[in-house]
Amino acid sequence: MVAVVRTHTFEQRDLIGGHVVLDLVNTVTARNAEPVDWIDGYPRLLQWAALTGRFAAADLTALQHLAQTDPGTAAQVLDLTRELREALHDLITALILHDAPAPAEAVSQVEGHWKRAAAGARLTVHGDTPRVQVGVETSGLEYLNHELALQAVDLLRALPLERTRICPGQRCGWVFIDSSRGGRRRWCDMATCGNAAKGRTHYQRKKQTARQLGDR
Ligand SMILES: [Zn+2]
Repeated sequence: MVAVVRTHTFEQRDLIGGHVVLDLVNTVTARNAEPVDWIDGYPRLLQWAALTGRFAAADLTALQHLAQTDPGTAAQVLDLTRELREALHDLITALILHDAPAPAEAVSQVEGHWKRAAAGARLTVHGDTPRVQVGVETSGLEYLNHELALQAVDLLRALPLERTRICPGQRCGWVFIDSSRGGRRRWCDMATCGNAAKGRTHYQRKKQTARQLGDR
């Protein structure tokens, strides 16, 4: 997928996936039209990461300094983030659409990212909580990639497929987990895609009525 890159300041309403890995996939919008990549550079990746609230502020500050010192490596690392993101998109949407067999290239790319992450990971146990951990000290600029790759594999193993959806909104295609009680959430956000669809139906109905009146 070749996406146009456009500057965008991430807001809370961009995080509707229900999981940080789905929110990463959704940093490309309009996937069902002309895809637009909202991550226009490594600093933007950090802005997104901060907004998710899933990463320690001190780690993000450390990454910011590393990126300022070595912008070339930061750009290469962002290419890897994009590769991971697109592989996850292809794999997860294939699973949602029951599109078997799963895309082999995407599977092997996710596997590759996960292996690189696991190579630098540590298994720790705090109290009665075992964790697989990666850190900025060992992963450097790739810390976010590593953390996201580990979490992606956790998500894939536990993805509630019957509750994972692709928003059918115009210029959307965001992926999300429907955690509503009735499990009938159709849109990424009722206030945006849902309303736009309602608005269109209303407009079409009005047009139809006008035409019918005109026929008389
Ligand atoms: Zn939508």
